[in-house]
Amino acid sequence: VPEATTPASPTTFVATCDLAAVVRGRSVPRSAAASVRSKGVGWVPADLALTAFGPIAPNRYGSVGDLRLLPVTEPVTVPGDDQRPAVDLVIAEQVQTDGSPWAGCPRSFARRALQDLADATGLRMIASFEHEFMLRDLPATAPFSWNRQRRAEPFGTELVELLEGAGLEPETWLPEYGDGQYEITLTPTDALVAADRALLLRELVRDLAERRGHDATFAPIVDPSGSGNGVHLHFSLVDADGNAALHDPAAPSGLSEIGLRFAAGVIAHAPAILAISAPSPVSHLRLGPDRWSARGPFLAERNREAMLRICPTSTVGGGDPARQYNLEFRATDATANPWLVLGMIARAGLRGILDELAAPAILPEEVGPEQLAGTPVFATTLEESLRDLEADPLASAWLDVDLLDTFLNVKRAEIAAVADLTESERCTKVADVY
Ligand code: GLU
Ligand code: MG
Repeated sequence: VPEATTPASPTTFVATCDLAAVVRGRSVPRSAAASVRSKGVGWVPADLALTAFGPIAPNRYGSVGDLRLLPVTEPVTVPGDDQRPAVDLVIAEQVQTDGSPWAGCPRSFARRALQDLADATGLRMIASFEHEFMLRDLPATAPFSWNRQRRAEPFGTELVELLEGAGLEPETWLPEYGDGQYEITLTPTDALVAADRALLLRELVRDLAERRGHDATFAPIVDPSGSGNGVHLHFSLVDADGNAALHDPAAPSGLSEIGLRFAAGVIAHAPAILAISAPSPVSHLRLGPDRWSARGPFLAERNREAMLRICPTSTVGGGDPARQYNLEFRATDATANPWLVLGMIARAGLRGILDELAAPAILPEEVGPEQLAGTPVFATTLEESLRDLEADPLASAWLDVDLLDTFLNVKRAEIAAVADLTESERCTKVADVY
């Protein structure tokens, strides 16, 4: 982290993102911000066991132990207004009090996974998290319409400006298909940075929406019969010279040998990954057939029902297909911690490469309903996915034992917290948090 200059805002919020994908942390005054950049602020291991709905889940950390939240990124200034002053938001890793890594930190989990991938293969992961969300307060408008776009003003334009100013490199801002649904995409970048940006994006959207009187939610599904809000993780691999390693123009569907192995690893461990990537009690309602979310763990050319989609490329305006070529992991949502999702995918892909897993079938673009109906399916509840994670000896061991135990407890506490509610009430409870 470069030398801190005097922060722009009166306070700096030092933040982490936990197993419930909630951003938590604490603020320091301007006068302390520079020293906090190198020394961090205090934090508690058991905080990792906080659930999405408030109470803390049983955990092995207990009432003892201390950590530091150590800033690892440049702060982003969240602008202020009459009601909410500006604040600098800085992302931190959770470290031991002597500065050594703490095994429970979700960001360091992702960082190590990407480092191991790079060390073993020489490949660096590039990524972008594409987010959908809903503004629940807006009147009904037509999908993808100009009218829907304009109804979100001035929020929409302010959001694009805010993201540009914060260095998040917004790419597209659009009215989506579902009721009150919008989508925002960011330019691909180094995968760890992309995950940092994913959680900043969520907070910047929520903060600006609240300040403009909107009721924004990234919940995977708001109405069980309606459209879901997906997070689609686009990724590619580049070698040390920056050459696109996923793409081979001579290969079927353009997917390179290494890309096929990577995809094989992700598909092999998909049931376990789903516990991490679709981890709310309603996340599974978003998945399944005919929702254009992800119906099951398979690889397909351009099909929006695949967990792993080979995305289109374009030569319009001199576009280079090799540079655009990417895979899209569609089975995640904003109740998932982006660092954990990224780390799991990097680990699974690395396993596919190292163990030379057999190339998975690529479902072709021209596919009939019967062929689609014959594809593998996902678990249909979070509890089932948690058991899949526990039953996968490799994937569960990628996570630190205490982190895994805490994750399972947090998720089972969240399942219990909504057990007595109807499906629709569960969706609302989750939507109110996210
Ligand atoms: N809303 C869909 C989802 O839940 C995605 C639709 C699209 O392809 O953009 O993932
Ligand atoms: Mg979309």
